Amino acid sequence: MTPHDAYRHLVSHSRETAYLKSIRRLLAWDQRTHLPRRGHAHRAGQLAFLAGLIHARLTDPRLPEWLERAADADAPAAPDEAQAVNLREWRREYHRASRVPQDLVVALAQAAAEGESAWGRARPANDWAAFRPYLENLVSLKRQEAQALDLGDEPYDALLDGYEPDETAAALQPLLARLREALAPLLRAIGEAPRRPDPGLLRRHFPRPAQEELARLAAQQLGYDLAAGRLDPAAHPFSTGIGPGDVRITTRYDEHYFPTSFFGTLHETGHALYDQGLPPHHWGTPRGEAVSLGIHESQSRLWENLVGRSLSFWRFFYPLARRACPALGEATLPDFHLAVNDVRPSLIRTEADEVTYNLHIIFRFDLELALLRNDLRVADLPGAWNERMEKDLGLTPPDHAHGVMQDVHWSAGHFGYFPTYTLGNLYAAQLFHQARLEVGPWEEHFAAGDFSGLLDWLRRRIHHPGKSFRPRELIARVTGKTLESDELVAYLKEKFAELYNVRT
Ligand code: ZN
Repeated sequence: MTPHDAYRHLVSHSRETAYLKSIRRLLAWDQRTHLPRRGHAHRAGQLAFLAGLIHARLTDPRLPEWLERAADADAPAAPDEAQAVNLREWRREYHRASRVPQDLVVALAQAAAEGESAWGRARPANDWAAFRPYLENLVSLKRQEAQALDLGDEPYDALLDGYEPDETAAALQPLLARLREALAPLLRAIGEAPRRPDPGLLRRHFPRPAQEELARLAAQQLGYDLAAGRLDPAAHPFSTGIGPGDVRITTRYDEHYFPTSFFGTLHETGHALYDQGLPPHHWGTPRGEAVSLGIHESQSRLWENLVGRSLSFWRFFYPLARRACPALGEATLPDFHLAVNDVRPSLIRTEADEVTYNLHIIFRFDLELALLRNDLRVADLPGAWNERMEKDLGLTPPDHAHGVMQDVHWSAGHFGYFPTYTLGNLYAAQLFHQARLEVGPWEEHFAAGDFSGLLDWLRRRIHHPGKSFRPRELIARVTGKTLESDELVAYLKEKFAELYNVRT
């Protein structure tokens, strides 16, 4: 077998696996949007069967030989860039898939499924004692998984690397500690500001058809191609890239709270714009895929917050919103803009504003790191949670449902996932800053509903390169700076000092 043949085998193997994953995403999309209630058991069977097929392909015994032979290519002066990227990523994928023994994979899948359904029952009942044994089992299995993956002395890193390649706890700890330190005084200053938003403004009656019209309009205006996508309602909003020409988003409607569907749609549109911008001719190979969860989240946060909660954005959209939603009444643009930027400590992460959101993430990261290191027992988790809630946000959860049991992640075994949200915010701030330097002031364009300058820049610098670079390398190449918290802190300080008329 020549190196060329080996590479060809790898490409077709990768494409076929990608078709299976794409079919799985389509089934999952249908499951969460249209599936009749009585079809769920059969759908679970279909998904489990596909999961087995996909895992078998990822650990195909022919892969090591192909990978080895393909690497023997008589290194041309300028090696094919896509080939180098693909080989690097296939090697990584094979390593991660083959290191974990089959019986542990099965035990983890089972524990995650049981954990998530136990969480679903225990959370509304506020029954920590019922949930605790499932979480203990999961932490122990995740430690075994980390050990099997064998990525150094820090077990947490092996799990984190599954979501954010090459990221480490050692690199994250000082970064997040600096961010936390900078956010505390800003939050305090805003809390003491005399200027307060009127939260009632967004809690009037906004009929669903009007919200749907606005959501669709906003997604399209930002550049989402509806001929290559769809917008459907779903209980838990998500975006999913089925394949080239088919990237779908969903949103949730609350007739008594304006932000739910609108900002939810902007968020998912950000994810979808990334998937719609990936190079289609590389589809089915790593060169055509997104970099990481964190980079994906940077795209959603950028459009949702840095664009979607800016004054220039609302200079364009507010007249449209007011026409569609007469309940906004006489509220002025500055009133409305302040209301969608309401900053106040809250118990629930998913409802947090731009300033407090990262505080929720940072303490989750500290707690899950301590769990994986065996420095914290699951039994002591609720106490540790409440302590940090009080220290960082000044609030005491009234029950576990509004505290340690609020998120689904840990119940499904997703340890190492939370930091990708804050990484997304950090990347977003750094990218947004750099884009503005290169594209020039865009406030007047935004106010006219034209976001193409920013989107074109993101297409060229972030979307088209696919998985060519690891997250931090991509950020360093595009912005000329290593990842830091400075840009996010500067953005938050400038924006909220002005909005709340405070000194920071
Ligand atoms: Zn997201």
